[in-house]
Amino acid sequence: MVTDIKNIAKLSLSYLPYNLVHNRFINGLQVCTNRALLSRDALVDIENERLSILLNQASNKALYKHVINAESLDAYPVINKKTLLSCFEFVNHKDEVRLSTSGSSGEPLVLYRTWKDRYEEQYFTYSSLAIKGYTPGEEIAWLRSYVPKVNEKVIKYLRYYRHWMMSAYDMTDENMDLYYKILKERKIKYIFTYPSSLGIFSEYLVKNRKCLPDVKAIYVSSEMMFELWYKTAYIAFPNSEVLDVYNNVEASARLTSCRECGGYHINNDYGIVEFIGDGKNRKIVGTGFLNSSYPLVRYDTGDLFSFKEMKHSSCKQGSDVVVGKILGRESDIIVLADRSVPCVNIYTVFYKFAEYISIFQLVQVTNSDFVVKYVLKPNATADFEKKLKSELLQRLGDSAKIQFEKLKEIPRDPKTGKHKPIITLKIEND
Ligand SMILES: [Zn+2]
Ligand SMILES: [Zn+2]
Repeated sequence: MVTDIKNIAKLSLSYLPYNLVHNRFINGLQVCTNRALLSRDALVDIENERLSILLNQASNKALYKHVINAESLDAYPVINKKTLLSCFEFVNHKDEVRLSTSGSSGEPLVLYRTWKDRYEEQYFTYSSLAIKGYTPGEEIAWLRSYVPKVNEKVIKYLRYYRHWMMSAYDMTDENMDLYYKILKERKIKYIFTYPSSLGIFSEYLVKNRKCLPDVKAIYVSSEMMFELWYKTAYIAFPNSEVLDVYNNVEASARLTSCRECGGYHINNDYGIVEFIGDGKNRKIVGTGFLNSSYPLVRYDTGDLFSFKEMKHSSCKQGSDVVVGKILGRESDIIVLADRSVPCVNIYTVFYKFAEYISIFQLVQVTNSDFVVKYVLKPNATADFEKKLKSELLQRLGDSAKIQFEKLKEIPRDPKTGKHKPIITLKIEND
């Protein structure tokens, strides 16, 4: 099964050097899951303990040499990707994993993490499922991370992990019927996927009057999750909970949605998350504990949270709950001749047209020229273009020129496996 391990090593979330019934995995998962169920006070104690270890590890790093009173988190300045890019201290040790962020801001960043930290990251991932009943050895469907090669089928079973890999790149009705049949036959209870893939798959199921009552938990991450997708998913998977998980490659923070609590658990055994700012939209700043190789203290993730309140948990998990919404990347900004528009505003426009469009991509060609590429939903007609155009002009300015391109499919970014909703071509200064 060596080839499987090699393949899986490229998958961002799933790779483990041992299978999922290995004692090391079973024990690690158990410890992580039990910890999530500890009381709030016990978790705060663990948080303090882990923080002091991390700050001690930070004390000999160049980034933090100037920090006075270095045992207190407040003493540290907020850093960001730019700070790290200007710091040349990252060295690859033999025992470490090389990671790089997607570079959605055009500035790829390479980081190193120890294998031990990477393993623990996996325990956190699977513990979200374990809280919903998953036990090691159960089959899991992955409607993400699998890119079939020319001679490969759209479904591949990885015996070593007991994972059904399903291509999120080939979601035709015919293939989705195959996915449905496997999920049904194998009575699969757990799915890892992208929000948009969940949206597409759920809609297919609902449209064809199919549902999958065996599914208990659907773990989504890497993209924004929209209301409409929740609605369709809960019809297609009536006994499931969608677990919307926020995290980043820098391992700064981990927010896991909880239907019972109506918000996101902050998982303070994973790291300390701060929501910085006075207004509604606050910066997500994290100090992750799984960065022992090079601690990133008070790291501004570049992501925003529309903040309502913090409250105590009302479910069996101990960590506090933050109520509000995760917003798009702060760095995703459309620069116009006279101003910048955060992409979040554009996303909300497109999702008003969700009944017509299954996938969209806005390409900015110059400061004022845009091309809207889209894939039409089956049975929908393109007569929404005029309305969409006027909505976009409201945000991009009347002088913007917008063209439309109706396509059969929009390729995913091969590096991240995600759809890039907004692309800015190299814009020359005029
Ligand atoms: Zn090392
Ligand atoms: Zn909860």
